[in-house]
Amino acid sequence: MENTKRVAKCPKCGEELELIRVATVNSMLDEDLREKILDQTLFKVKCEHCGAKLTMTYDFMYHGVEDKFFLVNCEYGTGEEIIEKLVKTQDMKGLAEAGYRFRKVYGIKEMAEKILIFERGMDDKIVETVKIGMVEMLDTNYSLQVLQMYLYEDKERGLCFQCKLKDKRNMGTDFQENSYDLYKEHYKKCFEEDPREEYLWVNARFALDRIIDC
Ligand SMILES: [Zn+2]
Repeated sequence: MENTKRVAKCPKCGEELELIRVATVNSMLDEDLREKILDQTLFKVKCEHCGAKLTMTYDFMYHGVEDKFFLVNCEYGTGEEIIEKLVKTQDMKGLAEAGYRFRKVYGIKEMAEKILIFERGMDDKIVETVKIGMVEMLDTNYSLQVLQMYLYEDKERGLCFQCKLKDKRNMGTDFQENSYDLYKEHYKKCFEEDPREEYLWVNARFALDRIIDC
């Protein structure tokens, strides 16, 4: 899969724009693209002629070489095809035995979060379990209803959870490593049976299903 260039017309000024559509991002070869995923600007394009800010979105694959993981964005309907091709050509069993993790993600925030988690040697299933506890705690103690929660890295505060609330406010809460460790110890058995040779969508729903059953 190759990255492709294409020419599009700026919807605002009509001038031609050269756009690069990324098919794969490799953590070792594409440091600049990795940064653009982490700061969530990968899909943002600026017209050089009139300065209009455009968003161009698509599905693509991310390979974390050093930390052994594959992520496929499946937000726009072509991610499943990407996975189908990968599964045919990858030695899924061999890679899984070597410690690789395979994940579907839906959107750039989710992709950025997985990169942060795996690059720190953490387990995304445990992070999702921590989130379930956080959501419950924020509701019980502070009457805050969380709609979405993502891990991100704040330059000053370090790892934080960014929460989008039901009343549309955004708020950040610290990520506490000691509670991650407690959850890891307590819930590790719940995830032992999961297949390792498949692209899984590991989100809060996934974690909740497992901890209810276990
Ligand atoms: Zn323009």
